[in-house]
Amino acid sequence: MLKEFIPYAFEFFDGNISFHLITNGTRLLSIKELISEYAAYNKFSVQLSIDAGPKCKTNRCPDSKREWYEASIKKSVDFLIGANIRFSIRGTLCSEMAGDLYSNYNYFVEIYEDSESMQPNVMFSPELYKSNWRERDLIILEENIDNIVRDVAAANTENGEDISESFVRKALQNLKRKKTNEPPAGHNLCGFSRELYAIAPNGDAYACHRVYNNDDLWFGNMLTGDIDFAKLNAIASVFNNREFVQPNSKIGIANCTECAIRWSCGSVCPANNTRRYAENGSIECDYVMYRMRLAYARSVERHFSTVIREDNKTPSMST
Ligand code: SF4
Repeated sequence: MLKEFIPYAFEFFDGNISFHLITNGTRLLSIKELISEYAAYNKFSVQLSIDAGPKCKTNRCPDSKREWYEASIKKSVDFLIGANIRFSIRGTLCSEMAGDLYSNYNYFVEIYEDSESMQPNVMFSPELYKSNWRERDLIILEENIDNIVRDVAAANTENGEDISESFVRKALQNLKRKKTNEPPAGHNLCGFSRELYAIAPNGDAYACHRVYNNDDLWFGNMLTGDIDFAKLNAIASVFNNREFVQPNSKIGIANCTECAIRWSCGSVCPANNTRRYAENGSIECDYVMYRMRLAYARSVERHFSTVIREDNKTPSMST
């Protein structure tokens, strides 16, 4: 499908389009010529979305396939580094793996160290759907986050090395805006239903891949051209709008103006909220995301205090 779709879209938009492929990396080599071709025009980037370092367990791959899983990911990484193609790594972290976070982070950073032209861009997002996050898991997560931020700050101050860890970057943005009292940006959240969609092979269109096959979030068919824009706009304005989001009741605050990470929140998953809305009619930020981002914000404030300039201008690490 990608072999057909990418050249078609490139021609259709007269080259004014770029592609970002999010993949678990196991089948990447089947389209390596395609990736190389469009990467050469600077039109292709890749995000390897994998659950854990190959040496640690993953909740997506059964033990019987572990060897194949590990070998495939390594081949994909070797190809991307060898062909000098931009890529980042996203790890999805379920509660049982919170303790593996720091070792996984180091594993991925070491992969990048093999390549002089690559900058590490490793991020971990908590699994919000299937995982059961208990207080104990959240405390482990916070400790791991503190270790990551400490290492990123040390690399930055000791070697001037810019390790681009996405959540550290976002926490720096929160800190910078907090110091300058700059309000949070815009009303939109992640792009759900606005610039991020899921299209089924039969053309059916949904507001995001996380709500794929949910009839309530279906808004038409791309192959027939029958698109219900009124429904799409209604979905977008309810679920992808900061104005409707309430603080999670576990945070214990009345509104977002009291929140410690309000300058760069992003703790909301609109797809997750579609379920919450169906169950109880409310739209809230996610408590696990909130705890994770709050841990980054606090840790960044602690470890980056020496690299943030007193005049409140840009931190020395690029943001
Ligand atoms: S984390 Fe929750 S309470 Fe804080 S700003 Fe974001 S939506 Fe509001």
